[in-house]
Amino acid sequence: MFATRFVSDPPYNAVMVPRRPTRQISVGDDRTGRILIGGDAPISVQTMCAGYTHDIDACVAEINRYHAAGANLVRVAVPERKDTEALKSIIPQVRVPIVADVHFHYQRALEAIEAGVHKIRLNPGNINDRDQVNAVIDACKERGIPIRVGVNEGSIIERRDKQRRMEELGKYFAQHRSGHLLALMIAKLEEYLEIFEDRRFDQVVVSAKSMDASLVIDIYTEIAARFDYPLHLGVTHAGTKDSGAIRSVVALGTLIANGIGDTVRISYASDHIDEVKDALEMLYCLGKRERKGVELIACPTCGRIQVDLFTLVKEVERTLMPAITLPIKVAVMGCIVNGPGEAEGADVAVFAGDRRGIIYVQGVRVANVPEEEILSRLLAECTAFEAKVKAGEARLGEKKVDIVPPDPIGELGSGHHKIRAGLVESITVGQTANSGVST
Ligand code: SF4
Repeated sequence: MFATRFVSDPPYNAVMVPRRPTRQISVGDDRTGRILIGGDAPISVQTMCAGYTHDIDACVAEINRYHAAGANLVRVAVPERKDTEALKSIIPQVRVPIVADVHFHYQRALEAIEAGVHKIRLNPGNINDRDQVNAVIDACKERGIPIRVGVNEGSIIERRDKQRRMEELGKYFAQHRSGHLLALMIAKLEEYLEIFEDRRFDQVVVSAKSMDASLVIDIYTEIAARFDYPLHLGVTHAGTKDSGAIRSVVALGTLIANGIGDTVRISYASDHIDEVKDALEMLYCLGKRERKGVELIACPTCGRIQVDLFTLVKEVERTLMPAITLPIKVAVMGCIVNGPGEAEGADVAVFAGDRRGIIYVQGVRVANVPEEEILSRLLAECTAFEAKVKAGEARLGEKKVDIVPPDPIGELGSGHHKIRAGLVESITVGQTANSGVST
């Protein structure tokens, strides 16, 4: 016997901390719609264009692509006058609020505001002249445009001062792994935010990014305790999608689970569409956004597999994601070990046998097809099920029957011969849906 311990008992508290209260700001206009950031607004997702803003058609296409993928805000770089000029043509062609990313030249901010941009990002590391910042604040105030104050580890302060100030301030966070940088970033932020407070401008979002996930967790936790501005979370220079996803989700997921964060940008050195998709998936997993489209479950496969599951899952993802708009739970499982259990919990499921797949819709077996027909049949079942839900004839997540699973490792072996014979539902040897084998 073992003692039962609920995960919510301290210290194993898996319950998410309530969202930290913040001020709320609004970004956008009647044409694009307004995105609220902070307060009780859903955590929004943003990304940034990778191409040149002055390449108007390409920029519009890029923005619209991210918007279609689920981005709530899209940021563009405006390093030159021709970029802010281009905004005048770009903004009327898109339906998502646009943020101008301004570095070094405060005039670019003024020009972007004039061009109708919906939010400005300023970097305290490279626009820090008080009069210049005040000019931007005043222009934003006049138009009702918010500003993100975005501190970055890489451009935090004039380089000649950096070492000295790091040494001075490091002692304040000596117990932290990167305490000197943490102190420096917070000091810079506090100093900068004073300009906004003096000007009585509170339409501010704050970010403080690093490529170090643990520093990101530390700094946002500190900022959350010091200010009530909404927070834009991000890990900067996170790397490729593979490494960047881990860094970003570790840092951002930890913060969000701790109630910190109001808008997110995941950044990858690859197609930025992945930033939007992964940020949304992270928020879905944390229960912070209502899922749109298919929730796909798939087994990792093991030595029991008798179909090409990797190819099948990729194809299922490729075909179902654009075809289905409702959050239908779809399971693609390699064999009888965990297949029945997942098929019970999913709206539509397939578990494979020897070059075959048995397909279920809400626990009811609807097909037993050869491997080459699994994809098309699964797609057809998902489409038909979605139509039923839309017509009010079915409900998502409603289980109709229990699938009684076989004993996966006992006398039935892998059970493949039973799958082939279409007998899975009638086998009553096993007691549990999941033997704990593999996966
Ligand atoms: S045992 Fe699990 S991982 Fe292995 S093929 Fe079956 S469902 Fe997939």
